[in-house]
Formats: sequence, structure tokens, C-alpha cells
Amino acid sequence: MSHSLLPTSTVGSLPKPSWLAKPEVLWSPWELTGDVLVEGKRDALRAAVHEQERRGLDIISDGEQTRQHFVTTFIEHLDGVDFERRETVRIRDRYDASVPTVVGAVSRRRPVFVDDAAFLRQQTDRPIKWALPGPMTMIDTLADRHYGSREKLAWEFATILNQEARELEAAGVDIIQFDEPAFNVFFDEMKDWGIAALERAAEGLRAETVVHICYGYGIAANTEWKATLGPEWRQYEESFPLLQRSSIDVISLESHHSHVPVELIELIRGKKVMLGAIDVASHEVETPHEVAETLRRALEFVDADKLIPSTNCGMAPLPRAVANDKISALVAGAAIVRAEVSEPSALAAR
Ligand SMILES: [Zn+2]
Repeated sequence: MSHSLLPTSTVGSLPKPSWLAKPEVLWSPWELTGDVLVEGKRDALRAAVHEQERRGLDIISDGEQTRQHFVTTFIEHLDGVDFERRETVRIRDRYDASVPTVVGAVSRRRPVFVDDAAFLRQQTDRPIKWALPGPMTMIDTLADRHYGSREKLAWEFATILNQEARELEAAGVDIIQFDEPAFNVFFDEMKDWGIAALERAAEGLRAETVVHICYGYGIAANTEWKATLGPEWRQYEESFPLLQRSSIDVISLESHHSHVPVELIELIRGKKVMLGAIDVASHEVETPHEVAETLRRALEFVDADKLIPSTNCGMAPLPRAVANDKISALVAGAAIVRAEVSEPSALAAR
């Protein structure tokens, strides 16, 4: 069964089995092809669900086992983007990458993840969460030679994301998450049209909606960028007041081992908070007590019935055993705090 108080979740991605894709790298090429690849992805998804359930996670995800990358795989399924024509652009103002080019009107010819989500639905009775890229993060991984306006392209993507999200919901997805790390970088655009585009992507959904912002995986380009941010990371200060007034239900942020001042959560008071209590940039597995301490600190700024203990970001680049043990630590840490919150005298006596 799932806990209604402090339900545990991961941000999304989990390591893939080594027979499916090369471990511990992003954009890892598939080890299988054709029908065998299709079957392999499903088996990996099944294994990921089993492991999450066995370790006691309340909200189950697909572990992103059927996709190569959280942004690229979605875009690959759209018309209007030429993956052969590549240009070098600066991603999130941080590192150069060779990216595909938008050469015509973008559209979604058929559902991208809906079959995979229906398959996930069959594997578990617990609530399921599905992650999609946010519109602003999508445009930031492309060169545009058609629209000539980041805002216009983001709006087109938001419309496409909304179509996909509605069909995911119909397939039984309980929680739809939009990954929008670009909100920690492009503050002016976020204020001008980024939040509006995100709300457009989430429009009309009955499923709970999450925005995950974050400072990225534990890869070198991100670690170097983080080193330039100073002792306190206050980037969320730009987005949180706007998100607090937005239609999005849940805000996901990193906390454990991070330089984000925990009191920034006060800025989203009233929203649900998916709080990162697991560091995804370290192979060291947290103790349940460390997890509990991170959650307790957050409880000064978020009501217990609105706290969702989670990981800081995706765990795809970690060794599989480490990621699984981190899930166990998260579940055990949440259980400690759940007991304290349910029995306030235990907290007072602590
Ligand atoms: Zn993240």
C-alpha cells in the first residue's frame, strides 16, 4: 500500500540494466535493436517497477527505461525537427552541444509515451508518475531556423505537451511532471512567457502536475557550473513566487547536500513540495537519519501533508545498486519523520 502522508517518490530516471544500455552515462546508446529492443525496454521497466515497490516507494515511475534522454527522446518523435541537420548551441548557458534543427512547423503525429505509460499502469496498483520535458527546456536543446522566436516555439511545444499529457492521463497516469531546469537559468524569459507556457502544457489536466527545476545531474558541466554559483543558491527565488501563483500543483526542488537555502520553500507555501533528500551527484548512500534530518528542516516551511520526500534529480548516471540503496534510504528516512509527525509527542521528546 502507499502512504498518504509523506509519500515517497523519485524525480524520475533510474539506471538502466547493462544489457539494455551502457551504464553510468547519459545519452547511452542501446545495446539491442529492433523488436528485441522493444521487448528489452519493457523488461527493464518491469524490473524498475519491481525494485521500487520492493523497496517501499509510494509513487512509482517508469525509471525512464524506455527513453534515451529526458528531452531528446520526446523531440525525436515530433515533425518539424531535422536530426540530421545539427548546429552547435550553448545549452542552459553552460556547455556547447551539437543539437538538431527546427526546420518547419513542429507537430506530434502520434502519441510518444502513451503506450509505455499504459504498460506501466498494468505493472502496479500504486500511484504512477510520468515525466515530460518542459517547453523552455525543450527549445534550449534545439537550433531554430523556422520560428525565429523562442517564445513562439515554446508555445507550440506547450500545445504538443498538453496533447501528450491529456493522453497520459487517460492511460491512467496519476501525476504528470514537467522537467524545467531552464527556469534556473533564463529568468527574464521565464517571467515573460516561461511560466505561461508551462501552464499551457498543464492546462485542463485532472492529474496532479509537478514542475521539477533543479541544478542538474551530477555530470561535470553541471558540477563546474554549480561551483560558480557561490555559497548560497538562490535561483529558485526567481521562479518560486510565480509558481506559487501558478496552476501547477507540486514544486520539486533539490535540498540534501545542496546550497539551496531551505527557507526558500516558504515562497511556495500552499503548494505541495517534492523535496530532494537524496544527493544524486554522490555514490555515497545516505543514512535514513540524514534523510530524516533534511525532511525535518523542510517541515518548518511546508506543512507535513504537502511534503513529498524525493531525490534531488534523476539517478540515471548512478550505478544501479547505489540508486536502489538510495531509494531504500529515502523510504526509511521518510518513515522516521512520518512516525514523528503522526505522533507529535515523539518529536517533542526528541
Ligand atoms: Zn533534475
